[in-house]
Amino acid sequence: MGPSCWIFHQWKQSFERTVVDAEVTACTVFLHDGDHGLSHDNWPIPPDLILCVENQRSALLNSVKFIGHSPQPQPQAMDMSDEKRLERLSGMLKRRGFLLPAFEIHGGAKGLYDFGPVGGRMRSRLNQYWLNHWLKLGNVVEISCPTVTPYEVLEASGHVGEFSDFMTQCLACEEASRADTLLEAHHPNPDGLKRDELEALLNQSNPPCPACGKADWSEVSAQNLMFHTTIGAGSSGRPGFLRPETAQGMFTSFNSLYRHFRERLPFGAMQVGKGYRNEIAPRQGMIRLREFNMAELEYFIDPHAQSDEDLSAWDDSPLTLLPDTLVETSTTLSEAFESGTIRHATVASFIGRTMDFLMEVGIDPERIRFRQHEQNEMAHYAKDCWDAEIHGSYGWVECVGIAHRGCYDLDKHEKATGKMLRARREFDEPRTIEIDAWTINGATAGPAFKAQAGHVKVAIERLPKDTTFPVNVTLDSGETVLVEQEHVKPNRQTVKETGEWYIPHVIEPAFGIDRILWHIIDHAYHELEKNDEPYTLMKLSSSIAPVDMAIFPLFEKDGMEILARELHQRMCSAPGVVSMYDGSGSIGRRYARADEIGVPTCITIDHQSLEDGTVTVRKRDTGEQHRVAMDSL
Ligand SMILES: [Zn+2]
Repeated sequence: MGPSCWIFHQWKQSFERTVVDAEVTACTVFLHDGDHGLSHDNWPIPPDLILCVENQRSALLNSVKFIGHSPQPQPQAMDMSDEKRLERLSGMLKRRGFLLPAFEIHGGAKGLYDFGPVGGRMRSRLNQYWLNHWLKLGNVVEISCPTVTPYEVLEASGHVGEFSDFMTQCLACEEASRADTLLEAHHPNPDGLKRDELEALLNQSNPPCPACGKADWSEVSAQNLMFHTTIGAGSSGRPGFLRPETAQGMFTSFNSLYRHFRERLPFGAMQVGKGYRNEIAPRQGMIRLREFNMAELEYFIDPHAQSDEDLSAWDDSPLTLLPDTLVETSTTLSEAFESGTIRHATVASFIGRTMDFLMEVGIDPERIRFRQHEQNEMAHYAKDCWDAEIHGSYGWVECVGIAHRGCYDLDKHEKATGKMLRARREFDEPRTIEIDAWTINGATAGPAFKAQAGHVKVAIERLPKDTTFPVNVTLDSGETVLVEQEHVKPNRQTVKETGEWYIPHVIEPAFGIDRILWHIIDHAYHELEKNDEPYTLMKLSSSIAPVDMAIFPLFEKDGMEILARELHQRMCSAPGVVSMYDGSGSIGRRYARADEIGVPTCITIDHQSLEDGTVTVRKRDTGEQHRVAMDSL
């Protein structure tokens, strides 16, 4: 077999894990003979050199041809590949009540996590911060839709047919695995393979079962990932699912939103809430969950309207883009939009707003990049799609998707229900329109359709000229009636139209809250040493810190504890403020406990406080202490 060449992107977990002796860079490509796994001992290339060669599937040979050093090396501030660090971090998160495996006393359940006494508050602050961030647009509302969703809704959206992964089962121990995951060491991009290709590669490479080590696999089959349920009991129960995303509720609510906004676009609806995905084999902690927290905004626009997005606000803050040309660049949103790299101004502005949000909640800006979907990766209806990827302990992970979805979603629900999901645009000048089609024949249709005749007329006038009768017609109510030739007559006339109804386009930023929360923690977690002991400092942004202040009495005696409790109560009653009282252990231990969960401010009540009403305020990140009057807090 002659040498074949592949392009490897660093965001592929498989690449980072299997190529241990290579420096992973933004667009690193290695010559590879393609007929077995990637774990070479004798790479023919110096590890710091990039070779860009052909991707077998798409003709990228011309688009990527530089040979040289990485344009943007990996950030070096922390050694994220340190598995021990990940272990220590995970242990701390469990011990301190950030994140815990759910139902652990019953043996736990894979892919389900609890947010504990610290994590629960952090998650809700993150959700609220997200909502507030988008409310600033001024034309966005928050809604809340059920997680239990009827079958028909998700059939219309395409999820019943397409929301699936390819699985295979170990014939020895029955453990189910994702076929693409098993083949990560045997292919650079197995999640892009079709069923037959996966099956062929599985038979050829025969990887061992992660559970029992044998290598005997069943056929590869598509497994729908939605959780099935029944809505109602007995024979009246109807099939449904736990929603795989929050978006569908926003689409089905379109008409109510349209009324709310006085029938003027653009506007948006958003919600935060649970989504469900019955992962075949969850792994990587918070990255792949079976029940997850998401936050989505559906922003409805008129595709004909001139966008008035002002991208100049981001002119001084270039960001890292990885467009579908696969050449990573640092550029401003204005430049990226004007050059056509980002294809829609609203998509560009949402990328900017997403970057702002991620930085404000504490993600390291050096570890954020926006990756454009390649044509073969993007849904057929999508016009442009960018993922915000964050770098952390698991490599680059997709945490936000910003997609221009065209009119796909509303169109699908309109077709499935017969209900109009449209907005009206007025013409600048009335237009003369020639009509040559059908209308109702009142003499025969009146008696035939009675009270419904008006609705039948509307439906008939939408039929094309070449319709043959009899034909079944769906009314706006969703009901279907049979229309005979005798019920209709030709309709030829010239009318003046002042406007038209159209299906709005949708731009959707979708945020994986768990993944973002994980990376906030990952980036904030600092391992230090104090007095020769390991010391943990969690540098959380005050916008989402789970506890705003910790209040310590120096000793729980002489009235210090009473004063401290009073202050604690007063702080807790301030809106949105969470205070924590801690009176046990040395003051140094208490500072350490507060630093470990990222409390920005500690307040100590001591003997002097009893005399003059002042307290010591200590800042987490600097360790600075100063005395202030208790009343000024
Ligand atoms: Zn097995």
